[in-house]
Amino acid sequence: MSNYLPVVHIVDAEGVQSEQPKITFQRIYEMFGIKIEPTKTNLNKILNRQINLPFNNLIKKEFYKAFNKNTLKIYNSTWKKINNQSNIIFKKSFRDKYKDSFGNGWIINWNCVDHVNYKTNPQNRGPIGFHKIFDYYSSKIKQLRSIDNVYFHFHPTPLNNAANKSGNHYFSTSNNIFQILCRRIIERDWFPSVYSPGFHIERPDSHWFLEQYFPFDYGNQSYSGRMANGYRFENWEGATKSWSPYHPDYKDYRKKGKCKRWIARRLNIGARLSVLNQKEVNKAFIELKKGKKVILSFTNHDSKNMLPDFEKTYEMLIKASKKFKTKFKYFDARSAFRSAMRLKKRKKLNFKIILKKNFIEIFSSHETFGVQPYLAIKDKEGKFHHENFSIIKPYRKWIYYFDSHSIPLNKIQFFGFASNDDYGNTTIVKINIRKKIVKKRFI
Ligand SMILES: [Zn+2]
Repeated sequence: MSNYLPVVHIVDAEGVQSEQPKITFQRIYEMFGIKIEPTKTNLNKILNRQINLPFNNLIKKEFYKAFNKNTLKIYNSTWKKINNQSNIIFKKSFRDKYKDSFGNGWIINWNCVDHVNYKTNPQNRGPIGFHKIFDYYSSKIKQLRSIDNVYFHFHPTPLNNAANKSGNHYFSTSNNIFQILCRRIIERDWFPSVYSPGFHIERPDSHWFLEQYFPFDYGNQSYSGRMANGYRFENWEGATKSWSPYHPDYKDYRKKGKCKRWIARRLNIGARLSVLNQKEVNKAFIELKKGKKVILSFTNHDSKNMLPDFEKTYEMLIKASKKFKTKFKYFDARSAFRSAMRLKKRKKLNFKIILKKNFIEIFSSHETFGVQPYLAIKDKEGKFHHENFSIIKPYRKWIYYFDSHSIPLNKIQFFGFASNDDYGNTTIVKINIRKKIVKKRFI
């Protein structure tokens, strides 16, 4: 058994957001089925726990757990507010207020979303554009020499393409996910090894997509409490409520099976639903003591005031650590899997590349995580394309043909690809076709 508990804080980084009363009351209707007139008076009544509710005491309790002073009126509605929050949170003195059992300050994993191609934006989400949030947190980390890291978060596009709504299919409503990943490879020399699904939504389409590229998935939100939306969005019913990560089954992402990626459980802090409590924190320590390989992970959003969440979560960690006489340690989201699951260390994943006029041939130095690397092309018109390779030998050798079925080489600006291995080593390759320059980056 490991003698300390790995703790992973993931922030689903989404930038600014505002919430007008109309939207709050719509949310109430969606979650609890009651229509209340969207007025300031009624909102204040809710904040003072004085609104008339046609529920029994148990549901009333659930209602006020979801709608109270802490969960309402706390949005970071301007970029200035986000920046003010970052200025506090990135301070070493702030992180050191919450030291783990080894004297290290708090670590944050910023899983960044891209707000792109919306039709309407009722809650003023933003900034709109590729890489905006990724660039913001990457530069904060770089400037301040922080040990935080950036990873990936994606929102499935809804049928109506409104910025504040969610679909549950990753591809049918847009090709945003391909566009974002292509640009991360070619414009930022970056590719994720860690993923957190938007709204915790996974379905067969996303399950099999994730299985091809990302070794570490913080998706599982199986929870014993009330599911207000009846699995409308996240559906982890029947998935383990243990803090021990698992490999999913190919038929059902919630069951244990023989797929390659790891899924860890992750609950919310400072949120309305699936909230981390002392009992859950204790459970992680108990499981560790029983010899299980565990990661305790939780999440909140930069679009809300995150400050109270640190205090509250830290109290729970300290309390449990004392009670079970066991240490805990903050982790980077990738390193946590490596350490907790005792993954076999691998050398960096390298590629041999042979570029000819009509095709490109690629060989990996050892097995890739998925059967093929993620392919990204930027053409001379500035458009980005994603495609499959021709898989010659799964996990080891691939060809891509430049012909009349795809795109001739002389119409391409950049040809890129990226891959992880089972250890989460990430390699990004970008080829400038005109200059014949191959650039590799190992993360
Ligand atoms: Zn999200």
